[in-house]
Amino acid sequence: MNSNIKKLQQKIKKSLQRMKIDALLVAQPFNRRYLSGYTAHDAGISESSGLLVIPAKGTPFLLTDSRYTLQAEQEAPGFEVVEYTKGLLPLLKTMLPRLAVKRLAFESHYTLHATYLKLEKLAAQLDIELVPMTDQVERLRVKKTEDELQLIKQSVLLNEAVFQEAFTKVQQGMTEKQVALLIENTMRIKGAESPGFETIVAGGPNGAMPHAVPTDRPLQNSEPIIIDMGLVLEGYCSDMTRTVFLGDPDPKAVEFSRIVRQAQLAATKAIKAGKKASDIDRAARDVIKKAGFGDKFGHGLGHGVGLAVHEAPAVNRRNHKQLQAGMVITVEPGIYIPGWGGIRLENMVVVTEDGCEVLNEDTTFLDV
Ligand code: ZN
Ligand code: ZN
Repeated sequence: MNSNIKKLQQKIKKSLQRMKIDALLVAQPFNRRYLSGYTAHDAGISESSGLLVIPAKGTPFLLTDSRYTLQAEQEAPGFEVVEYTKGLLPLLKTMLPRLAVKRLAFESHYTLHATYLKLEKLAAQLDIELVPMTDQVERLRVKKTEDELQLIKQSVLLNEAVFQEAFTKVQQGMTEKQVALLIENTMRIKGAESPGFETIVAGGPNGAMPHAVPTDRPLQNSEPIIIDMGLVLEGYCSDMTRTVFLGDPDPKAVEFSRIVRQAQLAATKAIKAGKKASDIDRAARDVIKKAGFGDKFGHGLGHGVGLAVHEAPAVNRRNHKQLQAGMVITVEPGIYIPGWGGIRLENMVVVTEDGCEVLNEDTTFLDV
């Protein structure tokens, strides 16, 4: 668990006080976990396992139902856990006036319109002003604490160990789906909570789609096979891509692999606190462009990773914000040729004041 929860709460409370907000409702599951330590998952956006009420001053609350009360009390010791029986809104109706809430913030990017309408009605009854907030908590999440960096590193290393073990069992003729299943089984066996996303195994022409879904197509010798995999360990995600070959790689694939690796190294070298995310993207893109394949690398270079596998900051042409020390980002250039296939390599790095630290230690298939 992140031992800095108290400090993070203080930061949020300070920004609430600055904005003259009396309390913030936190429903987004990663934000909820980040600020409380409560790990329950939601079955869907309309089926919440709990809501945080963070007042600008005083004890925070975790509202949940009887299925989760015990877990909430164990995992969120600094919170007053309040169980609701008649639903969330009736509970808020009695609670908000008691806390003298006049301005109430909610996560506008994670509230269903239907929920908002109910909240709006309640606010009108109680004479409360609703204040939409978007990424207040997400903005804190971009800079990882030391504890988080440790957990992320462990997640990365376990992911690599899974790759190594699973790959020894991959053979020509196995289907993409079978390999994905093998990888995800190995994740569970080796102690992951779950896969962080649906494992991508894309052989030959399927690899031309960056977000390919595994099919029943059997893997063939020499063709590039993109494996993009990640797991969750103690809540924290890893994300890694290797392009592998069974037998000797197709010479074209060797050429592309070298270009993609050069692009990855160029970007990694360019990463440093204070540099713009878009400049890092460009460092990789320039290498691929110079080799004549600029139009074959369509997606952004990377993204932040933490509690969510895709989180801020986006590392692409459009994000001109500066990187900060403590951010964890992926560096994942690729070349995709329709009808032939693709090559992608993905590592995770921590941004530091004078450069970056690559979290991946396994270099298998990085250099062919
Ligand atoms: Zn990935
Ligand atoms: Zn990624």
